[in-house]
Amino acid sequence: MEMAIRKLPDNLIKLIAAGEVIDSLVAVVRELVENSLDAKADRIFVSIYPETWNLQVADNGEGITQEDLPLTIQPHATSKINNTNDLINIHTLGFRGEALHSIAQLAQINISSRVTNDCGWEIMAENAQLQHIYPKPSAVGTIVRVNDLFGNMPVRRQVNPPFKQQLKKIQILLGEFALCHPHITWQLLVNERLIFSISRSNSADKILPQLLKTIHYSDLKTIKKAIDTPYEKSISHLELVLGLPDRISRPRPDWVKIGINGRIIKCPELESAIYSSFHRTLERDRFPVAFLHLQTSPRQIDWNRHPAKAEIFLDNIEFWQEQIKDTIAEIFKLTDNNISQKWENKRVENILKLAENKSIYHLETPEIKEREKSPEENIGLIDLQVIAQARNTYIVAEHSQGIWLIEQHIAHERIIYEQLQNQWEIVALENPIILDKLLPKQIEQLNNIGLEIETFGEDLWALRAIPKILLNRDDSLSAIMELSYGGDLNSAQVAIACRSAIRNGEKLTIKQMQNIVDNWKITKNPHTCPHGRPIYLSLEESSLYRFFRRHWVLGKSHGIEEKRHKPPLP
Ligand code: ADP
Ligand code: MG
Repeated sequence: MEMAIRKLPDNLIKLIAAGEVIDSLVAVVRELVENSLDAKADRIFVSIYPETWNLQVADNGEGITQEDLPLTIQPHATSKINNTNDLINIHTLGFRGEALHSIAQLAQINISSRVTNDCGWEIMAENAQLQHIYPKPSAVGTIVRVNDLFGNMPVRRQVNPPFKQQLKKIQILLGEFALCHPHITWQLLVNERLIFSISRSNSADKILPQLLKTIHYSDLKTIKKAIDTPYEKSISHLELVLGLPDRISRPRPDWVKIGINGRIIKCPELESAIYSSFHRTLERDRFPVAFLHLQTSPRQIDWNRHPAKAEIFLDNIEFWQEQIKDTIAEIFKLTDNNISQKWENKRVENILKLAENKSIYHLETPEIKEREKSPEENIGLIDLQVIAQARNTYIVAEHSQGIWLIEQHIAHERIIYEQLQNQWEIVALENPIILDKLLPKQIEQLNNIGLEIETFGEDLWALRAIPKILLNRDDSLSAIMELSYGGDLNSAQVAIACRSAIRNGEKLTIKQMQNIVDNWKITKNPHTCPHGRPIYLSLEESSLYRFFRRHWVLGKSHGIEEKRHKPPLP
């Protein structure tokens, strides 16, 4: 380790507000795994023997020296901080020096460890008292064995949830650490049986599909950014992995994860920034998949909000909320860089596979190498040229790497919806619209969305102003009636957008369609309509190339075997 283990001075101990709470199997695993991460391990194996309440965490980290080994179980003994200054500049997951001491009070423990250039050593402790220290040959790294956990506290064992539940929590915990530390290989064994493993990778978007099996890597989009930390001369790093809204969503709000400096925490303020960016982007009752990792100066963070460090105080929270929203907006943009990637092909591949299954050919198709793109091509919005209308419903557009089908009604609906959100304008009518037979609830509803109505006679009401978009429309009366049944202003805007958008079945000119496409592609969220339906399907050239087997040799496709010319003898 960089520093030797020492006992923290008393004044510092008093400053560390929250004490470690080791009340469950999960808490023990969490503490031991955090130690392995702080020791810079890249392999962490957790083994549990539930019947005997034994468990073990083995890592290939830096190890602990022979002198330090006995200190690990002392209270407030840590190698991670030294003085009050260090406390505001914490770069490790642990710093209180309490975990191993607490665990040693709750179980019999063995810690065997080896640093480079020494042989290995092992200590055995009971009731947090050192019993033996002896040489123990081993690989560099540390193995902590916890035996008979809570053996001296039968009540704590009883209040621990059933093992199955705890195992699930441990699995989630390891998955969360894996997202924040993708370069680590993980294994979880129960009674020597491997039940869960995560392979190391260079980024979180390769870890996420290992945790959520229904997700393919191509369903995700990642942005990594370096950002100037406000009020501080330091750079923060923000990584956002997002499930694309037209590809994946969850039935519950259970997969928005926020990591700060290597640990998943609860941060409702940042979570809500993500959820609100998905507003009117997913189908009703569907929720996004997202992982945010913010690596920022430890001075911005106060970990002493929660004993298990599961909640924090973060400085400049509004600044970070804005950063998150901007980053999500960037991900949603239809740029060449965002679109023409393998994941688009995957969607089409599924359709092509269906078609191919019906054909008699079953050929191995070679991987088509993705076209190299120049950096200029990565900036700016995608260039889409409308070439036709199909079935009076789909706009057919061409771009440099393929053909797109855009559903005219919902693309237009997305445009109008965003326009309405940007400017919800109520304009006066020359002649009022007369409404009849309104229920009090409908009157209230119309007032709520800013449409004032006045009585006009027996069971009659006059409406003297309407949303601008409904002006001069034949169906404005029925639109108003529809709104009077609806929910809040936002649902009214969705309803109006849907009603005012060009219908499917309507014939359009190329110019009209180009206009729709140009306006649609600059919307904030071009992927889905306000109800969450996908708006476009892109048929990438590389998929078409494969489907039409353009790689075939001409002679072969005519049934003529290619004759290889023998090279002349030397
Ligand atoms: P903290 O992590 O807060 O420092 P702990 O009680 O968890 O306190 O650990 C005490 C010390 O033991 C650590 O500061 C570290 O020096 C050492 N240690 C514990 N586990 C490991 C490990 N797996 N690898 C290397 N050192 C470790
Ligand atoms: Mg620790």
